[in-house]
Amino acid sequence: MKKQMPKLILLTGLFCLLMVIGTSSGSFAGERKMLVGVEIDDPSDILKLQQMDMDIATEGALSPIQVVVSDAELAKLREEGWQVNILIDDLVRNFEENINIDGNLGNYHTYDEMLQEMQQVAAMYPDIARLIDIGDGWEKTEGLADRDIWAMKISDTPDLEEPEEADVLIVGCHHAREIVTVEIPLAIIRTLTKLYSQNPRVKSLVDNREIWVVPMLNPDGHAYVAGGNPMWRKNRNTNGYSNPSYQGVDLNRNYGFMWGYNNSGSSPYPWSETYRGTAPFSEPEAQAIRNLAENHDFVISLSYHSYGRLFLFPWGYIDEDTEDHPIFEKLGRIYSRRNGYIYGNAKDNIIYNTNGDFDDWMYGEQTTKNKVFGATIEVGDTFQPPQSEIPELIRENLKPALWMVHVAGKGQDYLDNVSWAGESRAFKGRAKSNPYK
Ligand SMILES: [Zn+2]
Repeated sequence: MKKQMPKLILLTGLFCLLMVIGTSSGSFAGERKMLVGVEIDDPSDILKLQQMDMDIATEGALSPIQVVVSDAELAKLREEGWQVNILIDDLVRNFEENINIDGNLGNYHTYDEMLQEMQQVAAMYPDIARLIDIGDGWEKTEGLADRDIWAMKISDTPDLEEPEEADVLIVGCHHAREIVTVEIPLAIIRTLTKLYSQNPRVKSLVDNREIWVVPMLNPDGHAYVAGGNPMWRKNRNTNGYSNPSYQGVDLNRNYGFMWGYNNSGSSPYPWSETYRGTAPFSEPEAQAIRNLAENHDFVISLSYHSYGRLFLFPWGYIDEDTEDHPIFEKLGRIYSRRNGYIYGNAKDNIIYNTNGDFDDWMYGEQTTKNKVFGATIEVGDTFQPPQSEIPELIRENLKPALWMVHVAGKGQDYLDNVSWAGESRAFKGRAKSNPYK
């Protein structure tokens, strides 16, 4: 329906309507938000939810789909006959009571705490760790705040680019509210640096790879979450509006490969949670990744999101496999063999379609940079897990991430001859089952 209307008229019309009634299918600052589970029978149901511009929280496609809704949206879903269960009836209250216990994100790192820790690591391990500012948050580019995007480069010669060493990129927190995804990259930094002098396998990884870790790609959004807006997903670009409901760009829809391919995998409207921005790489945060990737020879990239216990890979924009599908599947199998995460792509129906995302660009853009095996890991199975669960979520992702760093320096032969001993039984069972049953 939307596609048949002339774009400009549709936009103008909707904007006017929104100005008058002050609400939309998107959100209204300060309004109560709930987390609900929506039962689906079929992948096409997710497309319907996307077309209703629902804020889908689970970044996977297993029923029930968890969705963040206002009272009005809940009523609308029920009116249309969806089967909906309320899981958390007030997300802000839940956040303040269980996550933001001390007003400072409790055991989760704030931006300042993350930076402090990265500075300490760089100071303690100057031979192998270099703290590098790779770009600015949107608010800094406008003089509204002073947050940078920080990377830790870990290697035996951190100031040198050694062409014979495989580069790996690990990124957390494209999406502001997915705060556990800062913790896993930080744990990877701590492990590689602390254990370098004690553990020969860690030493070998650091000596023979160039490992770039960016724990918080969306520092402004993260700070906004910490400030009491737990469901904020996008960056903090105002899009020219003062009303927060029209602000923010979804950084994981702003990359320049198949950007804006259609309006369900990303949205052209600023009030949507999946707003893709005005142009490919319009956002400084996505530009920072572009610049980094174009100036290094990454082999594998891991992008941490939450949640769904999944290992996802291209394509995202269409339901098709890449020509390197067997390699992606092996990477997924290696990552998942102990933690039971399910691996696959949109074609496998474990994730809905997205366009302009990080993985598709990392893999698909092969002109301005080399091909990168880009994967997204959806950590855990709740949005903002209680602090007590952080160590376990780190544990189940840390070794698999180090395996990916290892594999990045190996060839096809290695992948063909991996021993699958120790593969978890849970994984084998779950991977075979139909996610819609
Ligand atoms: Zn995400």
